[in-house]
This record gives sequence, C-alpha cells and structure tokens, in this order.
Amino acid sequence: MRKVIAALPDTLISQIAAGEVVERPASVVKEVLENAIDAGAQAITIRLEEGGCQRISIQDDGSGIPHTELHLAIQRHATSKITSLSDLESVASLGFRGEALASIASVSRFSITTRTNEDDHAWQIQVNGGQTMGAVSPSSGPVGTTVDVQDLYFNTPARRKFLKSSATELGHCLELIRRIALSRPDIGFAIWHNGKVIERWASCNIEQRVDAILGQEFQHSKIALEHMSGPLTVRGFVSKPTFSRARADQQYSFVNGRFVRDKVIQHAIRSAYQDVLHGDRQPMVVLSLEIDPQLVDVNVHPAKTEVRFREGGAVHQFIYKAIQHALGTAAGHSLESSTQYAPSYGFTQTADTGSTNYQWADRVNSSINQNLPLSQNNKTEIDKLFIQLNHRSTDQQAQATNDDLPLGHALAQIHGIYILAQNKFGLVLVDMHAAHERVLYEKLKEDLASGIKVQQLLVPVVMHASELEVGKAQEHRATLNQLGFDVATLSPTQLAIRTIPTLLQKADPIGLVRNLLNDLDSTGSQAVVDAAQHERLATQACHAAVRAHRLLTLTEMDALLRQMEQTERADQCNHGRPTWIQLSIQDLDKLFLRGR
Ligand code: ADP
Ligand code: MG
Repeated sequence: MRKVIAALPDTLISQIAAGEVVERPASVVKEVLENAIDAGAQAITIRLEEGGCQRISIQDDGSGIPHTELHLAIQRHATSKITSLSDLESVASLGFRGEALASIASVSRFSITTRTNEDDHAWQIQVNGGQTMGAVSPSSGPVGTTVDVQDLYFNTPARRKFLKSSATELGHCLELIRRIALSRPDIGFAIWHNGKVIERWASCNIEQRVDAILGQEFQHSKIALEHMSGPLTVRGFVSKPTFSRARADQQYSFVNGRFVRDKVIQHAIRSAYQDVLHGDRQPMVVLSLEIDPQLVDVNVHPAKTEVRFREGGAVHQFIYKAIQHALGTAAGHSLESSTQYAPSYGFTQTADTGSTNYQWADRVNSSINQNLPLSQNNKTEIDKLFIQLNHRSTDQQAQATNDDLPLGHALAQIHGIYILAQNKFGLVLVDMHAAHERVLYEKLKEDLASGIKVQQLLVPVVMHASELEVGKAQEHRATLNQLGFDVATLSPTQLAIRTIPTLLQKADPIGLVRNLLNDLDSTGSQAVVDAAQHERLATQACHAAVRAHRLLTLTEMDALLRQMEQTERADQCNHGRPTWIQLSIQDLDKLFLRGR
C-alpha cells in the first residue's frame, strides 16, 4: 500500500537530525559550549546530573540573545553566524549550521534563559520535545545565556536505550569539556556533577591549562613546541619519547581553535615519533594549528571533528618537522642524523625499542660496518666490551663447548639492550626485552587456558581514575575478572584493584589496569573479547617484560635463555620482530673478511 508523498513536519525533521547531532549527552555539552564560546563567554558553568542523562545546564556570560530573536534560536537552519555562501569560506565561529539547538530541543525538555546588555531583565523560552511551550516570557538572571536540557531522549525511548551508565556518559562529557577547555585557556570553567563541583579551571595561559587538564605525568615530560612557516603556525606540547601511553587517547589537536581528529595530523604525529617510540606506544600531544581559513574546509562533517586541508601534504610535512625538531632539541641531538641508522640499535638514550623498517640483518650490518667504527665515543665502549668479553669467555669457554644448549651461555649484556651469548655455532644476540615479552606472553596464554592464577593483594591498590575509566571498569567488570583483575569502584574517581594475575605481580598494577581499560574501550563488547585477548596479553606481557636498559646478571640472562628454549615460537616477539639471531663463526669471518 503506497502512502502519499508529504513534507515531513519540522519537529520530525529536527528529531531525525538529532540522531546525527545529538549522539549522547556529551554532544549536547559540545554544541551548547560552542555556542557560549561563539557568544564571547569568559566564564562558563556546566552543571550535569547523572552524567548529563538527567540534566545538562550550561550558563555563560556571553552576549545573550535579543528576546526578539529568541524564538529563532530554536528554529532549524536559523543562525546568526553566516548569511551567505562566501561566509562559509572563512567561517570563524564554531557553529554555523543553525541546527544544534533545534535538534536538542526536539528530544528533551529544553529552555533558554538569556539577557543581553541592553535588556533590563532576562527572557526565557521553553520547548518540550520540539513543541514550544507558551511565548517568550520575562525571567530573571544576569547578562548571558543559560541553556537547560532535561530528560534527554524522553520522547525517543529507542535512543534512550543507547545511553550508557551515568559514569560513562559523565566521562564522555568531561572528555569533551577538556577538549574545549584546552582550546580556550582564557575562558574559566566550572563543572558540577550531581550538585558538587568536580572541576574548576580559572582563566589562565595555555601551559597552565595543559598542566591542569593533562596532569602531572605530562607536566614533567612535556616539550614545548612552536613553529611557523608561511600561512601555518603550530604551537603546543608533545611528550618526551621516554614517556608514552598504550593508546592515543591523550592526543589533542586543534585547527583554528577547533578540536579535530584528522588523519593528516595523526599520521604526522606518528611519523615524527616513529623512530623514537615503540610501534604500539603513543605519545601525549596537545597541538594547536593555525592556518589561513581559506586553506581548510571545516564543513565536512556534522559533528565537525573532521576537516579537510587544501594541501594536506604540506600540513603533514610542517607538523612532522615541528615535532621532530622539538624531539631532537629535547634529546640533545638531531634526529635526522640518528635516523640514518636504526637509532634504537645502540647508542641513543631516547630509544626504548626500535620500530624501524630495517631488516634485522641490515641493522647488524649497518651498525657493524658503518656505525661503530666511525664513532670515537663508541670506540671506548667497544673496548670496554672487549675487556668484559675476554673475562667472560675464558670462564665460560669450557662450559659452552661442552653442552648443546641451543641458545648457549650468556657472556655479557650490551647497552642494557642485547644479551650476547655463545653457542656451539658461534655468536647469539638476544633482544632482551622482546625475548622476555615472548616468554611471558606464552605463559599468560597457558594460564588463561587453565584459568588465570590470581594474586590477592594484601592491601588493595587505589587507583585515581577519570570518570570515564571508572565507568569502563564498571561496564567491563566481568571481563576484567576473567583476565585476573578484580577492580572495584571506590568513588567516582577512584578504583580499588584487589587482585592481579600472579604472573604480573611484579608489574605496575595501575599501569596494567589503565591500559586494559583503554583496550576494552576500543574493543568493546564481550563478543570481541576473545579475539582481542591475544593482543591484550601481548600488551600486558610487553609492560611486564624487563625494559631495555636494565642490567641483568649472567645468571638472570642464562635463565632467560633457558626459558626461551622452552617457549613456543620464542624466536619472534609478539610484535613479529626477531628476538634473537645467530651469527655463525662463518658469518663473523665474512664480516671481518677473514679467509678471503
Ligand atoms: P549555530 O550555532 O550553528 O548558529 P545553534 O542552533 O547552535 O546554531 O544556535 C542558533 C543561534 O542561537 C546561534 O546562531 C546564536 O545566534 C544563538 N545562540 C545560541 N546559543 C547562544 C548563546 N549561548 N549565547 C548567545 N547566542 C546564542
Ligand atoms: Mg551552535
């Protein structure tokens, strides 16, 4: 049965649009905050109830809306920000579609109370699920605007079902507020939740705001950066390579003051860190890019976290260079020169483990043939190594030739990174961290198959967590348990870790749980947990494994070699890199052109 074609009623159109614009309470927070900023607010108070599901009330001290225009503010496609297509080319405001308030008002109990400088009192308009309730009426309040959103999705139960726990929604709201607050340190913010102040950021400079929002870890590991070239300027802070996270959740980039998630920028960040950070580690970054508005299109996506650069390649190069330069300065040497050879291989301080494109053999060759003999500094190190070698090899010679242990006996440790061992074929080089990681990984897998052995902590470890993390911990409690972690909620910002897997008892429980929560977020539901388990184990193993630069005794090194011999696929680490290589006497002869 065919129905007639009819134009959709306005409210229904807004409700449909709300599906895109108002994904969750955090989207409301974003739109309303952006309006406040567009209105020139200097101080903004955000009040949330139940993670914003019950109520979001945002008060600003901006320009206010003239009461004669108030009914238009909640109309679809009504905006004060652009009037022509040419405006769109150089739009400087955060909003411009004129859709947000209409959409939000169509799926909530909504009111705006506002007063301009010219008014001697405030005015208010109320909307209930898209239906305007009465006329614009006098009200009271200071100059500025308060937008009040209650019972989000009360009239669209299907959408309401998609709301997560209020802790999770609060976490998302706070994440959005952080982004905005980072882009505008000059604006003061106060955030309330369920009647209590949870954050207060006074107007300040960018560094102070970054410190307030990204916390102590970053405060002590950040490098300031500023770079200009033609129509491009970038300012911000990036973390030193010695500090990193499991996920890219602390990377904030802004283009002309707007938070963006942009592939070009993300890729530039990754590339800049590629040689100094292990492939699965992520830096912390706050970058603010200023670019001629003519050279960037912000009209790409309704939620507007995406942009399109006219010249993506140039932007990429620019950001890459800026970060590389900052990292180079911090490390006290130019990265450009050290990346010529695999920098993690030997002699740079910054590298943890390398993630270069070099094949292993190339790395060995380039280091032995070029890197070592060229450098005076290294020469003395090599001399020392020889002295050590001489000592060891005389002690151990007899032993080593007497038995057939596949990986032989440890002789020494090189720069805290590699174990040098001797077996009957010749020389064995072991990447200590990678090898230990593989051994632990296989053990974790065994454990998992036979039920993880857990270690009850005598005193639970209290972990200060973000609201988002607390939300995730609650949501994924069962999964965490399955992995050997009993994590309970102590308060909206505190978790208690009560058990950890026995195998990981030496690792940092807070770091492990934090990484797990991040991973769970990205993989989500129970159904994918199994598939993700291996990767998660690998991550855990990686964090628990001995880090490079730790000195091991010969006995410890030998123990590791024996464990490797008993471990499946011990010759590859969990990231697919080799864990050890054999250089036979013939190989060594070739290197030294012996017998030619
Ligand atoms: P847009 O921001 O895309 O213009 P919105 O639906 O978010 O569309 O807002 C509609 C209009 O309402 C804005 O263009 C602006 O004129 C006005 N407005 C909304 N919020 C505020 C505020 N906090 N202060 C002053 N004016 C506001
Ligand atoms: Mg807007």
